[in-house]
Amino acid sequence: MRILVANDDGIYSPGIAALARVASDFGDVRVVAPDVERSSAGHAITASRPVRHKRTDIFNGVEAFRVDGTPADCVALGAHLWGHVDLVLSGINLGVNLGNAIWHSGTLAAAKQAALLGIRGIALSAHSPVQQGDFSGIEPWARRALEAILADDEPALVNVNLPPQPRGLRWTRQAVDRYNGRVVESEDPEGRQVFWFTVAPIDAPREGTDLWAFDAGWVSMTPLRLDLTDHEALAAAPDPARALR
Ligand code: MN
Repeated sequence: MRILVANDDGIYSPGIAALARVASDFGDVRVVAPDVERSSAGHAITASRPVRHKRTDIFNGVEAFRVDGTPADCVALGAHLWGHVDLVLSGINLGVNLGNAIWHSGTLAAAKQAALLGIRGIALSAHSPVQQGDFSGIEPWARRALEAILADDEPALVNVNLPPQPRGLRWTRQAVDRYNGRVVESEDPEGRQVFWFTVAPIDAPREGTDLWAFDAGWVSMTPLRLDLTDHEALAAAPDPARALR
């Protein structure tokens, strides 16, 4: 199995090194990742200029390339260069991607780009204390989650979030009832107003959601789809010809 590994924290993140190690247990691995951090880049692609890649030998015997592009660029380029890819793994992100936060996530976008290309995509994110760079407690659980997901051919797109000291694996749905985006006003050293776009913890996420599972200590695995259509609204939508009369 050919496994392309990408992320949005950049190729020098300890999270992608951990994921490359885990991925090597499942097949042939190649790393293609942004040369700098592109967190919160969402599913942006680089269309106004060409993209370049450079070989980077930092992963013990694993072929790796750093790219001056977005996470989605890295997957598109990686799949193009390798010819055939069976699976794209993205992460392990330094910080969670839960609920409506996944709209901004570059980590998930890399997995979504795979799904758009007809390749299976799995995004993995971990709790922020992992920012210290120690993935020793997380790696076995990333491996377990991948074993559980890859045991079947479906689902094609999965968002995985790993809490500290997990108690097990859970399939979940995305928490959509609240958006935790928050604008925090501050001042720069010159006294000029600046704004931080950040997140605030939300209270009481609903049972069965990714946020709920993560808070309860479960590894959350959410199957996702690319179709954003509101099928109920489509079925109930009035005939537009009537409105024109
Ligand atoms: Mn990130």
